[in-house]
Amino acid sequence: MSEKVCPSCKNQNDATVDFCYKCEFPFNASDKEKSIHIGKFISNKGIILDSEDSLTKSQNLLYLAAGFYIIGFIINFSALKQDIFSLVFNIGVIFIIALCGYLLKKSPLIFLSIPLALLLFIYTINYLIDYRTLVQGIIFKILILGSLIYSIYNYKLSEKFKKKYNI
Ligand SMILES: [Zn+2]
Repeated sequence: MSEKVCPSCKNQNDATVDFCYKCEFPFNASDKEKSIHIGKFISNKGIILDSEDSLTKSQNLLYLAAGFYIIGFIINFSALKQDIFSLVFNIGVIFIIALCGYLLKKSPLIFLSIPLALLLFIYTINYLIDYRTLVQGIIFKILILGSLIYSIYNYKLSEKFKKKYNI
């Protein structure tokens, strides 16, 4: 046997090394230093679970946003405030947001970025048409934009971690 398995990240190292080549686990250090290293590794590994958790939250918020749009759409439609352009546009928006929620976990970066760009675009256009729309549902707007950005950030950290340690 000329290999030793790292107790921290489980990657195989050459038997002669003093530190794991992936996570720098100190093979020859004291037990205390070793356990501190393993503790740090485990807490960093938590980012993978955090990322999955925030993806699920973003997914639910996208479904909720699509739901809000449908309700707003029905209210406006019954009040006959819609022209054909906004009719098609709103149906398109509802469809895209719901679809991004559905596909989110298949390719998180793409299906987080599309609704983020789309919602920012819509909020900006609405603001330019009527600045008062900015404060309408402001808490939900902050919540969904924040959640999408946070999910992108967490996902990137988690992918970086997985790639580094072959997880
Ligand atoms: Zn290691």
